[in-house]
Amino acid sequence: MKKLIAGNWKMNGSLAANEALLQALAAGLPGQPACAVAVCVPAPYLAQFQALAKALPALAAIDLGAQDVSAKASGAYTGEVSASMLKDFGCRYAIVGHSERRQYHFETDALVAEKAQQALAVGITPIVCVGETLAEREAGQTESVVKRQLAAVIHANGHCISEIVVAYEPVWAIGTGRTATPEQAQAVHAVLRAQLKAATDQSARVKILYGGSMNAANAATLLSQPDIDGGLIGGASLKAPDFLTIIAAAAV
Ligand code: PGA
Repeated sequence: MKKLIAGNWKMNGSLAANEALLQALAAGLPGQPACAVAVCVPAPYLAQFQALAKALPALAAIDLGAQDVSAKASGAYTGEVSASMLKDFGCRYAIVGHSERRQYHFETDALVAEKAQQALAVGITPIVCVGETLAEREAGQTESVVKRQLAAVIHANGHCISEIVVAYEPVWAIGTGRTATPEQAQAVHAVLRAQLKAATDQSARVKILYGGSMNAANAATLLSQPDIDGGLIGGASLKAPDFLTIIAAAAV
């Protein structure tokens, strides 16, 4: 399966910085990258990406994603952004359940499942993040935590579960420079793959990304693991040369 390299810009950027970054990516990308590429930008910059993509044909190789989506379709939910609004701006992906949202915005497994449902309802692929904290890993709970998080999404989205992307992001590896070893990541990916297999006979279509301090130096080894189908990249996606190196590593 074609790998997916998705950048998660988080709450970084400005009109000027985004344009410089996207221009550098457009200039550095091969015409037909051997993997799928996406950038998940802050909501106010979705329109900027759309406009730039019209001016820079090379950006056609990059899909647009959002970093979150509302669990509601429309209505009196001040500050929320609905899936159909994201669709209006050409989003192909929406991250749901990122650990920073679970931690700082108290998002529950059930809410994350509803967000995935909203995305799927308009044809946006949810990138469903799961991952254990350091305390949970040290308590031997890694497997049960990620399975519980994914089970909620499977339960709410049964028949279209093969349309999701899963991202395994150990919380202790995010933004810390402390990457999971390829063996640690592969072990959890195999657990998630088995869980998806039990849920759908289309499980071979579901990409399972690794995220957490993936960078230009460690991407190739992580991406060579049998059940690692791509990466969700935070910090390194803000630097064009690093992101391009990761994209190149996903092509082999
Ligand atoms: P990082 O973030 O690559 O900066 O660790 C990954 C993520 O949180 O998606």
